[in-house]
Amino acid sequence: MIRINENYLKLKASYLFSEVGRKVSLFQKDHPEADIIRLGIGDVTKALPPSIVEAFRRAVDEMGRDETFRGYGPDHGYDFLRKAIATHDFQARGAGIEADEIFVSDGAKCDTSNIQELFADDLVIAVPDPVYPVYVDSNVMAGRTGAWDDGRYGGIVYLDSTEENGFVPEPPAEPVDLVYLCFPNNPTGATATKEQLERWVEYAKRHRALILFDAAYVSFIRDERIPHSIYEIEGAREVAVEFRSFSKVAGFTGTRCAYTVVPKDCGVWDRSGNRYELHTLWARRQTTKFNGVSYPVQRAAEAVYAEAGQREVRELSDYYLENARIIRGQLAALGYASVGGENSPYIWVKTGMDSWEFFDLLLREACVVTTPGIGFGMCGDGYVRISAFNHRDRVTEAMERIRKVLVRG
Ligand code: PLP
Repeated sequence: MIRINENYLKLKASYLFSEVGRKVSLFQKDHPEADIIRLGIGDVTKALPPSIVEAFRRAVDEMGRDETFRGYGPDHGYDFLRKAIATHDFQARGAGIEADEIFVSDGAKCDTSNIQELFADDLVIAVPDPVYPVYVDSNVMAGRTGAWDDGRYGGIVYLDSTEENGFVPEPPAEPVDLVYLCFPNNPTGATATKEQLERWVEYAKRHRALILFDAAYVSFIRDERIPHSIYEIEGAREVAVEFRSFSKVAGFTGTRCAYTVVPKDCGVWDRSGNRYELHTLWARRQTTKFNGVSYPVQRAAEAVYAEAGQREVRELSDYYLENARIIRGQLAALGYASVGGENSPYIWVKTGMDSWEFFDLLLREACVVTTPGIGFGMCGDGYVRISAFNHRDRVTEAMERIRKVLVRG
């Protein structure tokens, strides 16, 4: 008899964004004439920049000629891309990461989920609350948590990210084995200072823990004092894996390219205290289960690092940051407190009411979709996340509609 992985039964009924999608479809069905503006799911709306499209097209042409055709690529990515990443994203910022420590993949979502299969089942994991739901759900699927009980899973150490700590949690008092950190943060838009990250690296070293650092939104950082990479912190090479993605940096959500950095200094231990290189294990895992990202996509990603590409992707993130500025400004004028949106495309808004109630209000009265904070964790109750990923005229229209609804009360 084929039996189910019963850990799946512990999952809450639906992934947050499916629930939002369900509510929006229902609303659209009941109001077919409604012009709905989506500031919910964090998907980009602007096209791929021209120099990137050009590189993509050239590589597709190469695939169409016998002399330049390529079959299976190198397991961990083409050297041209791994080298460009190491040079531009790390070495240029003083972070000593080498090309062979970069593993090119088709998404940070899969990498942040897949990496945990390298670790023991009975690890104690720590996740921020609110949190990108993938970190939690993938651990539930792997059986690393207890049951869902009143808003949280048993067995997880939740790191409350609240107004009081500026939405950047400190390391917990107790030891944990695996910590997820995400800065600039999804959903709060908060960023961490060098000193805050130093405390996490020190904690991880002290407890032989591993930090999984998700920097998917790095391209939105404008304040140069904010670290772009965990490897800007001394000692992080020994205790941290970093996830990056071209999704938000260059509009690749539908094109798919990302990478994971696993430094050769990162250790992992067996029950008897023998040390293994995480780099070797991840390489082994990827070689077995993953067959690489297509050649044209890797050429398109490489073009991000050329002069034109750098200018164009900067314009992309500037565009969304201007949207964020408009959203923040309008909310502030209405007397709503919010964080994020300065070095991040997300604005985390204190609603003064239950977050699904606020979500429903904006959907019903303004036909604007946001994301209810509670869907990201208990600490998200009373908040919604507004995303700056949309066209300028839609953002200004959405904010005007929201203004009318909220002014009315
Ligand atoms: N990490 C975070 C924090 C995200 O918010 C997202 C997407 O929204 C991802 C990873 C997924 O990235 P990718 O498109 O590379 O799978």
